Amino acid sequence: MKLVAGNWKMHDRGADLASAIRAQLGAPGVEVLLCPAFPYLREVGEAVAGSGIALGAQDLHWEPRGAFTGAVSARMLLDVGCTHVIVGHSERRLLFGDTDAAVAAKVKAAMAVGLIPILCVGETLEERDAGFAQRRIRSQVAAAYQPGCVVAYEPVWAIGTGRAASPEHAREAARTVRDAAGADVRVLYGGSVNAANCAPFFEAADGALVGGASLDAAAFAAIVAAAEVAG
Ligand code: PEP
Repeated sequence: MKLVAGNWKMHDRGADLASAIRAQLGAPGVEVLLCPAFPYLREVGEAVAGSGIALGAQDLHWEPRGAFTGAVSARMLLDVGCTHVIVGHSERRLLFGDTDAAVAAKVKAAMAVGLIPILCVGETLEERDAGFAQRRIRSQVAAAYQPGCVVAYEPVWAIGTGRAASPEHAREAARTVRDAAGADVRVLYGGSVNAANCAPFFEAADGALVGGASLDAAAFAAIVAAAEVAG
């Protein structure tokens, strides 16, 4: 079954958007996951309770507790109803310095309490232009993947830019992820997915990680509908 995940990033949207999405979707025929900012997790969980829509966080710390000001542990995410957590998003890697080692530790911490990590991988524009895209994807998967993770292929140059990868590029990347992680891994595509361009990505991959378009209930519902068509 396809998985469509919405990454709301640091936008102050909570139960309002979750309720609007729930109303648009009815009973979704694919897996749907909403990932609001930490303070809104509980209210989003309440807004989607009983709908089949799952709750995810955008990051976590690898330690279970302690003097880590500003950080949130895997157990805390579980306590507010999360089933999933995004790990290694390129914004975390590039803006907050998350290394491959940190990403690997976060994946382990999430899995230790039963959260499903959505491990994000993807090359920068410079790596793509230098012909290193597939090598970069392989190295990020090798550094952090554990069986049971979902992998989101998100080329950095496609995130928030309005320039999605071609479906062929996404398909090749998904193949590279499967070569590195095993044939059973679920691979999502992310990077400027919207209601108009999403359909081919559901042929190329097992779902989508959606940023900007997930903040609009109608657009997100249209993406979910396209995933349902793809099966
Ligand atoms: C993302 O942030 O994971 C993402 C894919 O963003 P956008 O859809 O806005 O490119």
